Amino acid sequence: MLHIRRNTGRIFRCLRPAFASSQRLACAPAVNVIDRAQCSQSYGVTISRRFYSSNPAEGGENGDQAPKSNEPPEEIETSLVQSEFNEIEKANIPEDFPDVPILAVSRYPLFPGFIKKVDITKDATLKKLIRKRVDLRQPYVGVFLKKDNDNRAEVMHSISDIHSVGTFAHILEMRENGPVMELVLSAHRRIRMMHAIEQSEIDKQQKPTVNQRRSGNKGRGAIGKAAQIVNPVTTETSAGAETAEAVEDEKQPLLYLGHTENFKHVPASIQDDKTKATMQAIVQTIRQIVALSPLFGQQIHLLLHPSNNVSENPVYLCDLVATLVQSSNPEELQKMMEEPSVYQRLNLALHLAQKEKTVAELKHSITKDVEKRVQEQHRKYLLQEQLKIIKKELGMEKDDKATILDRIDEKLKKLTVPEHAMKVITEEKNKIQFLEPHSSEFSISRNYLDWLSSVPWGVHSKENTDLTVAKTILDARHYGMKDVKERILEFIAVNILRKKVGGKILCLHGPPGVGKTSIARSIAEALGRQYFRFSVGGMTDVAEIKGHRRTYVGAMPGKMIQCLKKVGTENPLVLIDEVDKIGGAGFHGDPASALLELLDPEQNANFNDHFLDVPVDLSQVLFICTANEVDRVPGPLKDRMELLDVSGYLAEEKLAIAQNHLVQQERDSTSLNADQLSITQEALEILIKSYCRESGVRNLQKQVEKIFRKAALKIAERPAEDPAGMIEVNADNLEDFVGRPKYISDRLYETTPPGVVMGLAWTAMGGSALYIETVLKKRNVDEKSDKDGSLEVTGNLGDVMKESVRTALTVAKGILSKEKPESQFFEKAHIHIHVPEGATPKDGPSAGVTLVSSLLSLALNKPVAQQLAMTGEISLTGKVLPVGGIREKIIAARRVGCTRVFLPAENKRDFADLPDYIRKDLQVQFVQQYEELFEHLFE
Ligand code: ADP
Repeated sequence: MLHIRRNTGRIFRCLRPAFASSQRLACAPAVNVIDRAQCSQSYGVTISRRFYSSNPAEGGENGDQAPKSNEPPEEIETSLVQSEFNEIEKANIPEDFPDVPILAVSRYPLFPGFIKKVDITKDATLKKLIRKRVDLRQPYVGVFLKKDNDNRAEVMHSISDIHSVGTFAHILEMRENGPVMELVLSAHRRIRMMHAIEQSEIDKQQKPTVNQRRSGNKGRGAIGKAAQIVNPVTTETSAGAETAEAVEDEKQPLLYLGHTENFKHVPASIQDDKTKATMQAIVQTIRQIVALSPLFGQQIHLLLHPSNNVSENPVYLCDLVATLVQSSNPEELQKMMEEPSVYQRLNLALHLAQKEKTVAELKHSITKDVEKRVQEQHRKYLLQEQLKIIKKELGMEKDDKATILDRIDEKLKKLTVPEHAMKVITEEKNKIQFLEPHSSEFSISRNYLDWLSSVPWGVHSKENTDLTVAKTILDARHYGMKDVKERILEFIAVNILRKKVGGKILCLHGPPGVGKTSIARSIAEALGRQYFRFSVGGMTDVAEIKGHRRTYVGAMPGKMIQCLKKVGTENPLVLIDEVDKIGGAGFHGDPASALLELLDPEQNANFNDHFLDVPVDLSQVLFICTANEVDRVPGPLKDRMELLDVSGYLAEEKLAIAQNHLVQQERDSTSLNADQLSITQEALEILIKSYCRESGVRNLQKQVEKIFRKAALKIAERPAEDPAGMIEVNADNLEDFVGRPKYISDRLYETTPPGVVMGLAWTAMGGSALYIETVLKKRNVDEKSDKDGSLEVTGNLGDVMKESVRTALTVAKGILSKEKPESQFFEKAHIHIHVPEGATPKDGPSAGVTLVSSLLSLALNKPVAQQLAMTGEISLTGKVLPVGGIREKIIAARRVGCTRVFLPAENKRDFADLPDYIRKDLQVQFVQQYEELFEHLFE
């Protein structure tokens, strides 16, 4: 052991760069300790002790050469080992010893100068042979590598099973450990297997001569005795059994003994530059491997023998490399063994060392990588733990649970939580105390508590009770919309009288772009309420309104609770957009019913969200819904709302909106002031008349936006030295900004021919003028012919409208029979009725009177009065029934320049409700029976 430690320094030196060139390593002889990392160092000690022992009882043949002192101290032993032992041993090794027992080994050949431990477990004959040899003081064996690595047999059948070149080894130690015979072999030189020795020879050899017996008994000495000392009992007791085994084995021809001869090298001179360079390269490579793999370095410490100067002994250097490398396969190593030329062997050794280096580099980089990752994680963990402790020490942060609960308590302090909610919160807080912070239940509980404490229990924004302020705000933002503004002022008045904040559900319905959504924001401002908007258009999942149950992964409360969390008050204004487009009942429930629960004043004081599972009071929320078609709002929902009609605008109104609001909005967003851009009234009028004829002002807003954008580009493109002059957009240059007009003429017909009458229609986009064209397919109607006429209808009409055509025909026939009893026109004529804009689907009964008029006009071949429009459902007896959308229809009639309009008598009130500016300059006649209309049709 000690000699190994002492040599460590030298070995390192040997691998230092300086060594390669100048420093020589003069190592003392000693036994190397190796069994390819199996042979324990203890062998080293045992071996050395035995060979230098001066005890006469153990002395044997070498006894006289050993130091005389009894049990020398270890230091002295070591020095003996280093200086003398190998010499003693070498002196006793015969130069020529051809017949040796054969030990076949697997995987790694044993190279000269190194030690290997070999166990014989099964083969009794071999054991017996070895024992005999040791007794005869011929403790030598030939160690050969098996050709087949998977061959587990201890004794081969023929020399073809082993490689021909092996090593001549000296048995340093033999131990009998139960059935196992352990041999420690020290290899001396290469030998070549010549031929196997016959069984009979072996038998002869196993019977020692008298002389041998004598000398054997006398000279059992070191090995023989040592073996008996190690395990005398086993050896003695198992002898009988082994003899039986041996008899069994002897029946088969096996390779126990072989005749060998010493292997001849082709030496290489270390004076030769090539040899020297290769050796230096090998040492250099080994040094690099040691730098990469400390384990390799340790192995060298164990292997490198001080007596062998690697830099002067190329043979030893090659064998050292072959013994050291782990990555080479048995064939490569055996090649090293068999190579006669030492120079070639050096090249092979260099190759093996380089290969080992590559593997070591790879291993090193992998280890480094893994190490780095582990270290980083470890470092992070340590720092985090330290941070936690530091924060705790400074009182900055308590542990997770305490922090969460503290934060929740802090939030709850500012709220007036009702008793039923507080109960749930307390229960949940108790529950969380017992939960593991990393468990999923913990995060669910934590999330739940977070939401429970986020509801603004008992928090209200201060409601505006000043009517003038509210009015000013509403007027400033929106032109017109009288009904809506009045309704809001009434609402404020009621709140003032009640001295309490209340809720309500209003529904603003009308065509797009009339300001339904934008006024809701102004209302919120006027009332001093927080504003929250969500759209239910296309919504199909109830959970969006009522929330998910907490058990689902990623569960969330519904929109209303999210709204309360966001606005932080219990009395916000909530705008629910597009209620007429809410999805129907389906797989995820019926959202309309959920919305009903939310909006029903009877129920919403205790609104129950699935996630929160605690009733929340929504009775103070002002809900404003918007819809384009009020008829499509689900009935029960419509029932609970107060409907406010926001119909389209007239050209004058649009002009006012554009001048007072839209232009100003654009000025704000583009920063173009009045000195840079102005739009003349005339330009705006053309814009309204020829570009944007829809009911709302969204399109108009887009056009104004376009003008501002184009102007901004023009101004930005001007050179800096020519400061911008004012751009004026007028009737002449309007096309430069917004392109060619979309509508050239106001109407389809300037003067209507017989059979063409203007009706008034209502669509979700507002009112429009709708012509009904009726023509005779066959010009000359032969009233005497007995063939009946026909009626063809086109123009993408719905079922109701098609039925309306048939009703109108009957009514027209009735009227014509009164007016012109002799006429057979409707019976014989082939009539085609068409409603233009065939791509637009049309349906509804309100074109009844127009259809009758158109048919009569054709039948009488008289054009109806010009600038005339009409609307009304017709009954079979000629009654004119009321229709909807009067405001939109009147606006549309004015837009196309009509001066006379026929309306059903029952729509009188609707018309009366219209503002004066819409009604003025319009001659409206209310009719109950169609005849009343017919009287004036051709005036
Ligand atoms: P809707 O919700 O009815 O479809 P919006 O409220 O979105 O329409 O209005 C579209 C644009 O028209 C908004 O920029 C709005 O300011 C403007 N607008 C509509 N009506 C008016 C109005 N009466 N006065 C001022 N601006 C209006």
